[in-house]
Amino acid sequence: MANQKKRNSGTVSNSPLPLAIVAVFGLAAGLTLMVADHTPRMRSGIENSVPITEEVLPSETTTEVTATTTADTSLTTTATTETTEAQPLPPGSVTGLTLSFYDAALKVGDDPVMPLVKMTPDDATDKSEKWESTDPKVATVDDIGKITAVGSGNCVIRVTSVNNPAVFAEVKVSVVNPNEKVTAKTKQADGNGTAEAETTTTAANTVASAAATREDMEVIDGVTYIQGVMIVNKTYALPQSYNPNGLTAETKAAFAELQAAASADGLSIYSVSDFRSYEAQDTLYNNYVARDGKEAADTYSARPGHSEHQTGLTIDCNYAGDAFHDTPEAKWLENNAWKYGFIIRFPKGKEDKTGYKYESWHIRYVGKEMAKKIYDSGLCLEEYFGIESKYAE
Ligand SMILES: [Zn+2]
Repeated sequence: MANQKKRNSGTVSNSPLPLAIVAVFGLAAGLTLMVADHTPRMRSGIENSVPITEEVLPSETTTEVTATTTADTSLTTTATTETTEAQPLPPGSVTGLTLSFYDAALKVGDDPVMPLVKMTPDDATDKSEKWESTDPKVATVDDIGKITAVGSGNCVIRVTSVNNPAVFAEVKVSVVNPNEKVTAKTKQADGNGTAEAETTTTAANTVASAAATREDMEVIDGVTYIQGVMIVNKTYALPQSYNPNGLTAETKAAFAELQAAASADGLSIYSVSDFRSYEAQDTLYNNYVARDGKEAADTYSARPGHSEHQTGLTIDCNYAGDAFHDTPEAKWLENNAWKYGFIIRFPKGKEDKTGYKYESWHIRYVGKEMAKKIYDSGLCLEEYFGIESKYAE
């Protein structure tokens, strides 16, 4: 299932059909074309660069045929007006699918939960669903999408359009069994640092205290902080409800200061993407999964809840692609961003620590004091705090 690809959509095409004709055809076929918000600034001066990154679709790929497009994703989509759809779906086809929720934390014994499914377009002829669980020992799902917790662990429940199997969505399910005894390794602080201790507890307790594994870590409303720094990576997620609705005021002010300093040095640094809501990331990530398969998507796109862009503390500068690496602006950021409270979040050579490819353009606000400490250490955030960045499954 990890390699499921979109067969009829999202593919690159060099067909010379003018956009207008395609758009008319697409509308007639009930498709949703995502070619709005052409962002020429992301292409200017950087030709022939088709990077796959956490941030953007390859610049020649566009015309997503999923109906789950949002304003946020259009910001990160480099649409080209020349691109057309190679093989439009037959009229009446399902082109998009959304759920009322994408995460479920369940306890064994709880009532089943059932996400509501919306398939688009509204007049699609066959809206039948196929449901499956990656691990029925953790949670089962019936024909109409009722999810029942079975045993502790994590699994994914997927619903697929029978009409168009390229269209699907997933619910990440985590289950605890309050009656099950488990052995958990927890780190407990001692006077001189940390020591590993084996403790036996119930699964429910383990979840409740999962974050209380070191003295300098705290979890507030589901958000993890270490030494006051919000932590979001493949291990630590933000809850769906966490939504600052844009960059934080502090981040904005710090970035303005950074921009002024760069400008004084004759360089122009600007944001091409900053805040993304959980929902926007969900759409973006699932579009990537539909196109490239989950395994590939995980190397360059964060799963919803795991993107730093949801923090409101993160900015992608100038051009979110490998072509940015060797620019004077990237070098300037590398040497100077810390002075304004930002770190290069995914540095070169730290891929196995951060879980992401080098991203010279992605800066993260941590405050001036912490940025200096991290910069001086030469470590990435994960190394500096001694944490991992790995998905649980
Ligand atoms: Zn980014």
